Amino acid sequence: MQTFSEIAPLRAALAEARQAGKSIGLAPTMGAFHEGHLTLIRRARAENDAVLVTLFVNPTQFNDIEDFVSYPRHPERDAPTAEAEGADFLFTPSPDEMYPKGFDTVVVARGLSERLEGASRPGHFQGVATVVAKLLNIAGADRAYFGEKDWQQLQVIRRLTADLNIPTEIVGVPTVREADGLAMSSRNVLLTAEQRRAATVLASALDNAQAIADTGVQDAYQIAAWLRQTIEVQPLARVDYAVVVDPETLQEVDSIENGALAAVAARFGKVRLIDNRLLRPAPGPAVRR
Ligand code: AMP
Repeated sequence: MQTFSEIAPLRAALAEARQAGKSIGLAPTMGAFHEGHLTLIRRARAENDAVLVTLFVNPTQFNDIEDFVSYPRHPERDAPTAEAEGADFLFTPSPDEMYPKGFDTVVVARGLSERLEGASRPGHFQGVATVVAKLLNIAGADRAYFGEKDWQQLQVIRRLTADLNIPTEIVGVPTVREADGLAMSSRNVLLTAEQRRAATVLASALDNAQAIADTGVQDAYQIAAWLRQTIEVQPLARVDYAVVVDPETLQEVDSIENGALAAVAARFGKVRLIDNRLLRPAPGPAVRR
């Protein structure tokens, strides 16, 4: 594995791989690897001739300085892990390399960025969209891999690549979970033991939402109310949002008859966690409860 902290030599190495006829898969991350990250890298490995992993805790996507400062960082552990998973190239830029003096351009997917995570974290998706556009342009990859755990982020990235004619195929990877259902996240290590136990409520509330749908309920507001109430039963959870939305636009829907996305965000102490799952309607006519 070759490691680069600067863009120019990385580009030269990628150009060489491309000239040799190799396809390139990109897995962008902020590091502190868990199985979710490794799944992206493995998928990139399986579907491409060469794999580029990027490791960059992007300051512009943090709207909360405390969250940025406390964000877990383990580059000394991540680099050998990336290599063991078959990465060919590792890119670990400094903030100055990504945002040199005079940097003045941003990318915004306007509608999508205002909803859910965007409403709770102003500026977050502008930071994400800008850094991802830069990484896609630097890498010139055939495919880039993003987790469905950050579902809204995945939609923002699909939108920006379509709108800006970036030819990289965006691949969504299903959420990897702990044995008790908690979606893996670099922030999970910041939870106390008690908060960690409480946090399983997010996944169980989402499962509960599907269980309600399985009984024939299609009313999205009713399902969203159940979702919120299930989380609020847990005293350590402070719900930010619990909604049922269109999976592409993230706008609220009235009915799940054509499928929908249940999305939740909640704080456990200072740690904010998100999760989501697609809801499918039960076969047969809708019932009211
Ligand atoms: P992050 O380092 O948190 O920015 O995540 C890097 C990539 O890994 C993003 O595309 C995330 O959506 C993805 N990811 C994070 N957690 C998971 C997970 N539990 N399952 C699948 N993908 C994930």
